[in-house]
Amino acid sequence: MASDVDTAEPVYDYDLLVIGSGPGGHKAAIAAAKLGKKVAVAEKRNMMGGVCVNTGTIPSKTLREAVLYLTGFSQRDMYGPSYRVKSQITIADLLARCAHVVGREIEVVRNQLLRNRVDILTGTARFVDEHTVEVVGEARGERHVVSAANIVIATGTRPARPPQVQFDEEYVLDSDGVLALDRIPTTMVVVGAGVIGIEYASMFAALGTRVTVVEKRPQMLSFCDPEVVESLKFHLRDQGVTFRFGEEVERVEVTKKGTVTSLVSGKRIAADMVMYSAGRQGVTDELRLENTGLEADERGRLAVDKTYRTTVPHIFAVGDVIGFPALAATSMDQGRIAACHAFDEPVRDLQELQPIGIYTVPEISYCGRTEAELTAASVPYEVGMARYRELARGAICGDSYGMLKLLVSTEDRRLLGVHVFGTNATDLVHIGQAIMGCGGTVDYLVDTVLNYPTLSEAYKVAALDVTNKLRALETYSVE
Ligand SMILES: Cc1cc2nc3c(=O)[nH]c(=O)nc-3n(C[C@H](O)[C@H](O)[C@H](O)COP(=O)(O)OP(=O)(O)OC[C@H]3O[C@@H](n4cnc5c(N)ncnc54)[C@H](O)[C@@H]3O)c2cc1C
Repeated sequence: MASDVDTAEPVYDYDLLVIGSGPGGHKAAIAAAKLGKKVAVAEKRNMMGGVCVNTGTIPSKTLREAVLYLTGFSQRDMYGPSYRVKSQITIADLLARCAHVVGREIEVVRNQLLRNRVDILTGTARFVDEHTVEVVGEARGERHVVSAANIVIATGTRPARPPQVQFDEEYVLDSDGVLALDRIPTTMVVVGAGVIGIEYASMFAALGTRVTVVEKRPQMLSFCDPEVVESLKFHLRDQGVTFRFGEEVERVEVTKKGTVTSLVSGKRIAADMVMYSAGRQGVTDELRLENTGLEADERGRLAVDKTYRTTVPHIFAVGDVIGFPALAATSMDQGRIAACHAFDEPVRDLQELQPIGIYTVPEISYCGRTEAELTAASVPYEVGMARYRELARGAICGDSYGMLKLLVSTEDRRLLGVHVFGTNATDLVHIGQAIMGCGGTVDYLVDTVLNYPTLSEAYKVAALDVTNKLRALETYSVE
């Protein structure tokens, strides 16, 4: 017979302990606190807000904004190619803006946690057992051992560092190292044309750095619309970027003057520095997962089910540590949803339709399906195109290259995809996303009045374009 002690509910220090304060952890903690739960967040020193606030999304997007402003890049259509806001831009000019924004965002995250009575435990968390976590700080004696009924792992990722590459933070760096540069390079090699690599390549190109991108795949951003990617490549080449697709780096030599990158094909590229963007690795190695029975895969990632539960039912994992899509935007919602599941609070799954934003210069964004996907699935569609140069707002803001493309079902006129290239692409995409999410047709856009002059008008122009094509199809099809 079980004793009283056996049947009693175990008592924990916290209802929820979150490991990591990035977007996933932050939102999980707040959601649980809003449900009236006792919550703590463990985070390393000087990392409040996670990779997102300290080394990823926020500093990279702020750097981009600083580059666009100081170079006057987005105004050159209007004022000519020599237009500059500041003629000698220093790395300090760029990083000062980053420091300002990062500082503010850290305060916002910290304040939201404290305001919601979430305890902050500073240090590195590791499991003692599946309900107990030790958080060890850098200061002597800074150590907490806490227990929790539920735990959310939101420990994110760090840049993957190929073992054969000697990173020295000066000549050979990864995306974290860019934020500690002491100068703007004249020449640079970017290894890896994934989203982070190509975003930084385009920022440095806008600054006037001669960038060579080396990518072992035959193309880049293959998940995006090929027409949009072609436009981006055209623009980057125009800014002096050289692409080496289908090429692999054999070795990087560092001398007192700079670097020489040797490719397997025999080519050698001299550059002031080399930035590796070779993917990211889940940060699970410090967690002592073996004390929980959990195991990460070879890239440090954890497997979860639809409710973000790991194989240990009270331990959840959210954000980059669970892999695709590894975006701040998604991580936040994963955190919120995991917290609701932890406390049996009714919650809906995330909508499948999710936007992708790539903050290159110019930027790219899309939502829904690509032409290649629709063609492969034999879904008939028609394309509606709007060019910014035909929009009054395009002329006013000096963007003559932007475009918006709608993919519309020829069977029921529903929007199947929206692809945007150019100014404000990452904001504009949400109009299409909302219409698609509600199952809307292109007729909604035809019948809707949009503010004028705006870039949103591109939706109207593209909708009319596709409607004309659909009408022609109907007219020509009639016997
Ligand atoms: C250069 C760059 C640009 C990006 N740009 C964008 C963008 O434009 N848009 C977008 O949506 N996403 C972008 N991302 C991705 C985005 O930053 C991530 O998707 C997001 O930060 C993931 O959030 P997360 O909750 O998984 O935690 P993260 O932000 O990765 O933070 C994890 C936190 O966990 C902490 N931690 C780890 N282990 C422990 C431990 N044992 N104990 C205590 N704390 C621990 C870490 O210190 C860290 O602070 C970018 C990423 C990078 C690198």
